[in-house]
Amino acid sequence: MQSTPDVVEPHSFGADFFEPTDAALRARTAAVDIRAYAQTRNHLQGQVTRLSPYLTHGFTSVPELFERLPALRLTDKLAFEFGWREFFQHVWYREGEAILSDLRPALPGVHYSDRLPDDIRAACTGVAPIDNAVRQLYRTGYLHNHARMWVASYCVHLRKVHWRTGADWMYAHLMDGDLASNHLSWQWVAATFSSKPYLFNADNVARFAPPDWHCPGSAIDVSYEALEQIARGNDLVAPSPAATGTTEPILHSAPPGIRTSTLPAASRIRLVHPWMLADMPFDGLRLGVIHQPFHRRFPWSDLRWRFVMDRMSGVTDAVFVGDLSDLTAMLNTTVHFESTATPYPGYREQLAQLCAYLPEALRHFPNPERTCRSFSAFWAQCTNSMPHRSPP
Ligand SMILES: Cc1cc2nc3c(=O)[nH]c(=O)nc-3n(C[C@H](O)[C@H](O)[C@H](O)COP(=O)(O)OP(=O)(O)OC[C@H]3O[C@@H](n4cnc5c(N)ncnc54)[C@H](O)[C@@H]3O)c2cc1C
Repeated sequence: MQSTPDVVEPHSFGADFFEPTDAALRARTAAVDIRAYAQTRNHLQGQVTRLSPYLTHGFTSVPELFERLPALRLTDKLAFEFGWREFFQHVWYREGEAILSDLRPALPGVHYSDRLPDDIRAACTGVAPIDNAVRQLYRTGYLHNHARMWVASYCVHLRKVHWRTGADWMYAHLMDGDLASNHLSWQWVAATFSSKPYLFNADNVARFAPPDWHCPGSAIDVSYEALEQIARGNDLVAPSPAATGTTEPILHSAPPGIRTSTLPAASRIRLVHPWMLADMPFDGLRLGVIHQPFHRRFPWSDLRWRFVMDRMSGVTDAVFVGDLSDLTAMLNTTVHFESTATPYPGYREQLAQLCAYLPEALRHFPNPERTCRSFSAFWAQCTNSMPHRSPP
């Protein structure tokens, strides 16, 4: 099912075109309207920030955004959503790769497939919100939160696709793909990280999406009781394939066309990985690193590689693509390495071995010692321990 996608001019993506620059990040931050966000965030055409690719790749951080948005208070919806991001990171830091497996038992007796059906992959299920979302995902690498929830719910509960299969596929195509936010959200939808399955129907789509996403008479134009029964049983909802599908973009386990540059001699090296792409001054060599064993497990789309590599080459002096365990042998001298810690598998272990100085990424909310298994428990700890910012 994989073939070359149609050539699309990225600037035609409109609001969903993510330029890998600080100027683009500043423009998005300046456009944030905290009040409008609270009122409209659930609508596909609502005033969401589209900051996620910049947050995921460490151009900025939640604490920095709190500084750049001085009117933002803990009681604002946007602060709450930043809290969700840091909650998922908290669970990942504490649980490690366990987040890639069921965190609690799946719905009893339900069997899930580890194969994503071709009609979902090709955006021709005949269910408009799913087909539109998949096309948008492939074209831009971005999806509104509601669209992500709909796709995940449809895959898991109506088509009986195991959440991990769906999560790996969506992760690969997102510009902001993040193993914590993505895989734990899929688990939340599947009810392996929440107490009940997340379900949606055609009325819900009609309320939050524009008319071309509406789907009266489709497989999801049923009551929540009927959906609940489907979710807890083993009957598949049959697709009613639309006439034309689309092609899934090719995935790459290394940045296309980029190899390790000549590594200049240096005694101090800052390793700049894909999740910490802030432009930070450094008195030594800034070396961009792509640790291929991770990307063989979790490949990315061309769109995402371009976003990451354009930025990485802009904020580093040289780039290394390979296995980080080979790095010291290539450098031939005694080097003092430093970086910022990341929980990404492979990177996490290699950076811990190489770096004498490896601080954690900055957080706005606390990272409790014991894992909070629910957002409400996490949020209660945050709001009890943090001063509320008084209104300006
Ligand atoms: C199935 C599924 C998969 C997801 N995969 C990812 C992913 O790979 N990477 C990712 O960053 N987010 C993911 N999310 C969370 C959320 O959908 C995105 O963060 C959000 O849509 C990004 O768009 P935005 O920046 O315009 O968000 P806004 O609504 O403008 O929110 C601002 C920021 O708050 C954070 N945020 C908002 N909503 C959530 C949420 N529900 N959970 C966690 N953080 C949130 C994000 O950092 C976001 O950039 C997923 C959600 C679902 C349901």
